[in-house]
Amino acid sequence: MSAAFIELKEVCRYYQSGDSELKALDQVNLRINKGEFVAIMGQSGSGKSTLMNLLGCLDKPTSGEYLVNGFSVSDLSQDQESALRLSTFGFVFQRYQLLGNYTAQENAAMPAIYRAAGYEERMQKAADLLARLGLAGRELNRPSELSGGQQQRVSIARALINGAEVILADEPTGALDSESGQQVLSLLKELHAEGVTIILITHDAEVAAHAQRIIKIKDGRIESDQNSTEAETDVTAIEADNSSHGHSQINPYPNISILESIKTSLTSLKANWFRTFLTLLGIIIGVGSVVLMMAIGEGSKKQVLERIQAMGSDLMIVIPGGPNIRKREDWTSLKVADANLVKEIEGVEIVAPEKNAQTTMRAGNRDYNGKVLATYPEYKAVRTWEMASGVFFTHEDMRELAPVAVIGETVAQMLFPDRDPIGQYVFLKKSQFQIIGLLRSKGASPNGDDMDDVVLVPFSTAKVKLLGGDHLGRITIKVAEGYDKQLVKNQVTAAITARQGRQTFRVRTMDSFSQTLTKTQETLTLLLGSVAAISLIVGGIGVMNIMLVSVSERRREIGLRIATGAKPSDIMRQFNIEALVVGAFGGALGVLFGILVALAVGAFNVAISFSLLPALIAFSSAVVVGLVFGHTPARKAANLDPIRALSEE
Ligand code: ADP
Ligand code: MG
Repeated sequence: MSAAFIELKEVCRYYQSGDSELKALDQVNLRINKGEFVAIMGQSGSGKSTLMNLLGCLDKPTSGEYLVNGFSVSDLSQDQESALRLSTFGFVFQRYQLLGNYTAQENAAMPAIYRAAGYEERMQKAADLLARLGLAGRELNRPSELSGGQQQRVSIARALINGAEVILADEPTGALDSESGQQVLSLLKELHAEGVTIILITHDAEVAAHAQRIIKIKDGRIESDQNSTEAETDVTAIEADNSSHGHSQINPYPNISILESIKTSLTSLKANWFRTFLTLLGIIIGVGSVVLMMAIGEGSKKQVLERIQAMGSDLMIVIPGGPNIRKREDWTSLKVADANLVKEIEGVEIVAPEKNAQTTMRAGNRDYNGKVLATYPEYKAVRTWEMASGVFFTHEDMRELAPVAVIGETVAQMLFPDRDPIGQYVFLKKSQFQIIGLLRSKGASPNGDDMDDVVLVPFSTAKVKLLGGDHLGRITIKVAEGYDKQLVKNQVTAAITARQGRQTFRVRTMDSFSQTLTKTQETLTLLLGSVAAISLIVGGIGVMNIMLVSVSERRREIGLRIATGAKPSDIMRQFNIEALVVGAFGGALGVLFGILVALAVGAFNVAISFSLLPALIAFSSAVVVGLVFGHTPARKAANLDPIRALSEE
């Protein structure tokens, strides 16, 4: 005798309920041949569904053996089991279990995704099946737009889409009116006539009468097993056919394609668009703030560097205050004589000594308190300062102690808001100076001081009329091109120290200046960046939270997909990709959002600077966040027990 298509040997299925064991199936022996139409009858709680789940490989026996086509199901790997479910069994449930977000055609086509059928092929096949089952013209309706009978026929189409050899129907007519029930039954009979094995659970004797064989179970045991005579011949005929049909091996199906997963993800994300939006919001804010903070941090760093550049990177300044300051007088020990010494050093191109003071200025009836800077004509060249109009004072002005002044933009606006300042007079303290030049605006210094808030006067004139004393506030030195700044700096230090006896001054190059400032800016950027990164992590936790909600809300859908042949790894992939899609989409929107906000902030005179790297980093972090925080929910989905998920309402 050849092997039965389906065979249960001494199968038991026990449930632990408290201390006692509940024997849902007890020592069941059963052989079903290919092409049979079997009805399983019994009272509620007799073990029918338990038996069905075992037959459909959704459940495993506690003891005993279950063979399909001669294969022991307990020997199969998880993926082989999925493959067996996919290719051999088709489930029809009492409550249809259609997915509400999909059309009839998509519902029917769904299981074919897991045997890697192409979109066109599976949709065509679904349409053909629906037409055959009397649902032509209903392809695009959603389950809520179909009657119970129609929904059940869609679910039969779904059971057949992968060419199932066995239909397992658990009370398929239980929820239908008698006419729809009749239609469904005659469909099952038609399928049986075509060679499909039908196993039908019912508690209705009239329904069972359509079958060739009726198995009654009670308290987990087979009570009776009756074959009608004509069925006997059928069985032998098909049994012979059966032996030639046996697979030699069960091969797992490949994982569903990424593209397919993305499509599925988009459907479910769209179906819950508000929830999706909230999840996205977390990521968008996280990524957006990274981009924004980096733009502001980079912008201010760039601004500082530009200002230093504007001051001249080949400059060096000597200022009072050094390691050997002891007395008050040491603050005034930097003299014009030092500037003259520096002038002789090789590699020094221009030297501009200066001294400044805050002074009241008056022009007409306007008063202003600003900075007066007493300096040499070289100052203009050393600071590469252009004239807006008029001229700078000269060495001749210096010799003649000419009462002339050159003013900056800010002072001009304060004192001469509605007049050309050239040729006008300004009182500095009690002395009158004639304005001969207006400097072009230079903006803010690296430390943010207004460089245009200044009146420049010849050093010699100021010494007599304004400031007194011959000590200097600063010597600005321009190093000639091609000379080592460090070397020149050492020589300058040595020369002045030699004259003064000890060092009461400091020499600073713009390089050291920019280095400190850049470092400060970088710290700032880092700080802003980490605050933003934290918000990205918070966004990630949001993703996880909402994914977990999504998994528990979609338990039925997941259970159904597993029951129709999806491998746990397919489910895992789908949820991973869903999280990934959220991450990538949120990341892209976040970059856009960050740029827009940065531009808006930039409109309020805040320096911003975009670079590709932070945007790329923020975007990829969002993707990684999606992957990492989506993993736990995805695993939870993949490990779902389909029987429990499907029995929930
Ligand atoms: P039927 O489908 O014939 O109504 P079932 O196969 O669903 O019966 O259940 C058989 C018995 O096993 C019942 O007593 C039921 O309470 C019990 N049972 C079914 N599933 C579980 C489960 N997951 N845990 C514990 N007991 C269960
Ligand atoms: Mg049941």
